[in-house]
Amino acid sequence: MMRRWIMVPVVFALVIAGLFGILRLTNARTFQLFGDLLARVDTDHAVVALTFDDGPTTDYTQPVLEILKAQDVRATFFVTGRETAQNPAGAKAIADAGHEIGNHSWSHNRMIFVSSATVREEIENTDAAIRDAGYKGELHFRPPYGKKLVALPWYLAQNDRTTIMWDVEPEADLVTAADPQAMADYVITNATNGSIIIMHVMYESRGASRQALPALIDGLKARGFKFVTVSELLALQQGSSN
Ligand SMILES: [Zn+2]
Repeated sequence: MMRRWIMVPVVFALVIAGLFGILRLTNARTFQLFGDLLARVDTDHAVVALTFDDGPTTDYTQPVLEILKAQDVRATFFVTGRETAQNPAGAKAIADAGHEIGNHSWSHNRMIFVSSATVREEIENTDAAIRDAGYKGELHFRPPYGKKLVALPWYLAQNDRTTIMWDVEPEADLVTAADPQAMADYVITNATNGSIIIMHVMYESRGASRQALPALIDGLKARGFKFVTVSELLALQQGSSN
């Protein structure tokens, strides 16, 4: 009888540790259970990929495209299927400007405890919306909130899709994220060859991120970096056949 009671805290501790492990696994930027996951690329080339999540939105797609055009920089936009279906002209404008588009799920729900049928719908319907908007390039995937556990990586692996994460996230710290110059400085300091920079520029609340872009791009150019799309970055991965 005694022993069973002793086991209670042990089991409790194991459950907590297990849950903590699952939480860490869902957030891990460099590891997932199945398939290719990429937070940056190993390369000797002085290149970085600028990536934007969410949208396209009617209010902020065009202003962001204008900043990139003025800087002669191409980026990769991970858009949601729902927003693309609501605003196909926004997705078309991104594609027409020569940027890459990626799949960021349909609903932007956390894809942790989800069925494989849900995963398939989220991804395939979003691909279809992006294609309907006229985009013809490669379509990589970035999970909403960077979260994934079992069904999502399994599906992506089965379908030869690379999961694109990031290694430079200027918005992670709230104080930095409120200050455009601090965000630009953070990126300029922390980017290295092959870095993938994540930013959110599609909503009203992200004014500071949009304002950070010109200084951020200028600073990276001054350090000698060239801007490439995610697909171009993948092609430079050391040991790849390209
Ligand atoms: Zn997102």
